[in-house]
Amino acid sequence: MTDAFKAQPFAARCPSDEVLGLYGVGELPPCHPAAVHISACPMCRRRLRQLEEGLVLWRERILAECAGIAIEQIKLNVHRKLREEQAC
Ligand SMILES: [Zn+2]
Repeated sequence: MTDAFKAQPFAARCPSDEVLGLYGVGELPPCHPAAVHISACPMCRRRLRQLEEGLVLWRERILAECAGIAIEQIKLNVHRKLREEQAC
């Protein structure tokens, strides 16, 4: 039996990225068939690592963008408040 042939049934049962993501954040019960599969499947574990690396980068970018938006929003609110106070 070749390695590729042995790997095939595993790959055919690999869960989707969404399920891998759930597993990654601990939302998949350990007894769930997909969780059992992921813990034993080198391909899924590699894919999970890639997803996690991607998520960290994505999260950092979103947080940076949100921080930028929040500061802009605060500035706008302060300027509006100042204008309102000057108007009275
Ligand atoms: Zn797998």
